Amino acid sequence: MTEMMAGDGLYDIAIIGGGVVGCAVFRACVLAGARTVLLEKGGDLLEGASKANSAILHTGFDATPDTLEAACVQRGYALYREICADMNLSVVKTGAMVVAWTDEDLAQFPKIIEKAVRNGVTVRRLDAREVREREPALADDVRGAVLVEGEHLIDPWSAPMAYARQALLNGGTLIRQARVENGVRREGAWHLDLAGKPAIQARTVINCAGNYGDLVEAIARPSPFQITPRKGQFVVFDKTAYDLFRTIILPVPTALTKGVVVTRTVFGNVLVGPTAEPQQEREFPTVDHDNLEALRKAAFRIIPALREHDVTTTYAGLRPATQFSDYQIEALKTEGWITVGGIRSTGLTGALGIAEHVVALYRDTFADPAPLRDVTLPQMPNLVEELPRPWMLPERGPIACHCERVTEKEIKTALTDEVLPAGTLGGLRRRTRCMMGRCQGFYCTRRVMELAETHLPGLVTPIRGSQRGDGRDV
Ligand SMILES: Cc1cc2nc3c(=O)[nH]c(=O)nc-3n(C[C@H](O)[C@H](O)[C@H](O)COP(=O)(O)OP(=O)(O)OC[C@H]3O[C@@H](n4cnc5c(N)ncnc54)[C@H](O)[C@@H]3O)c2cc1C
Repeated sequence: MTEMMAGDGLYDIAIIGGGVVGCAVFRACVLAGARTVLLEKGGDLLEGASKANSAILHTGFDATPDTLEAACVQRGYALYREICADMNLSVVKTGAMVVAWTDEDLAQFPKIIEKAVRNGVTVRRLDAREVREREPALADDVRGAVLVEGEHLIDPWSAPMAYARQALLNGGTLIRQARVENGVRREGAWHLDLAGKPAIQARTVINCAGNYGDLVEAIARPSPFQITPRKGQFVVFDKTAYDLFRTIILPVPTALTKGVVVTRTVFGNVLVGPTAEPQQEREFPTVDHDNLEALRKAAFRIIPALREHDVTTTYAGLRPATQFSDYQIEALKTEGWITVGGIRSTGLTGALGIAEHVVALYRDTFADPAPLRDVTLPQMPNLVEELPRPWMLPERGPIACHCERVTEKEIKTALTDEVLPAGTLGGLRRRTRCMMGRCQGFYCTRRVMELAETHLPGLVTPIRGSQRGDGRDV
């Protein structure tokens, strides 16, 4: 149940990539009874695409019907809701409205409703009065909406951490700072070369490498897909804006873009974005003034009262997009390999559905182990604003981060946790929310660093500029 050194015998399965998809597949493989190792090149999990998204648990109402993505999103949505309470994972029901501002927008409603119906998702058309009754802060000229009651917000980091944690608690192995550089298949097993660590052997490899999916795929075969990361920039408004509205506000999509979403976060902020910008760079999504300004203006157009509220921070994420619109999931029998690629815009929701699908492929193609019995469940600490948090307890002790009300005890626990301790400063932030509030670490960085250095000497690398908090020295 721990992170182990490499070179530990032959695994049934080696998963490459510890994003939300790799974590969910890790959990499913371990629970299915396979001896599984998760290999992540970063110092912690969730350092790639899964670091930054909109944190919406989608119903899949707008997915292209009869695609693998639609199936995995719907199954992932159902599975998350099935297991979240058992692991103390959040799910905040807000509903979403696809809002029309023009005649052209209104003309799209029949198509949107028809697609939702084909996807088996219940939606309801609202007129302008009903929209304003539900969300009075929307601009006066709103013309109507399609209401999707089933859309939810979740904590995008605790969920995948819980999947990985459950895998570790039930016998899985995680190796961080384990970049798979190459591999050869000999006598029915893969020998994977890790940068600076002993090689790993596994009968089957599952490629969950996100924005590096095509490069990792080339270990097994010429990749049938190419990744062109699609950047999404966001503006985050201060917690003072949280009470302006509750429903996720979606635009009517056009042929060119899905448009700007205005949503709350479970952490008590308001999020506006994302953009959709193809780029070649796979690792470091930057933000730029013009796009952020355009997002701010779009947000003011939708909810005018947002003008009265400050922007707390900005960030960007990278979707692992390919030349195909659907997920690229395939089992290669001769190669002993399962490809899980191109999980671009819906992976947070789809992950548990993808994992179930991957295990079914594994059973059909490679081996059929006996599923684990007496499965141990992790209990995740709550970071969600609407539920009780540790700072509210009388015995909470000192607070380290006052903006996000993170106690020193929470930080120490995240650093010294026996199962899955924070491996980078970014990982610590994602586990506790320290340094993520209004001051963006201006006041608490020093104390957080002291705590981090005391508990894990050498953990924290110097930080500069926009890479702040990601544990990278740039
Ligand atoms: C702007 C934006 C908004 C989004 N909003 C939502 C949303 O609201 N709801 C939703 O459901 N989804 C959303 N998504 C989609 C979701 O975030 C992605 O689909 C998901 O994060 C993809 O996860 P992944 O595990 O495939 O990739 P990643 O998270 O990138 O994981 C891949 C991992 O592989 C590791 N790796 C790469 N190469 C190697 C190697 N050679 N050896 C070892 N490790 C390696 C990387 O370090 C990385 O950690 C959004 C995405 C973006 C960018």
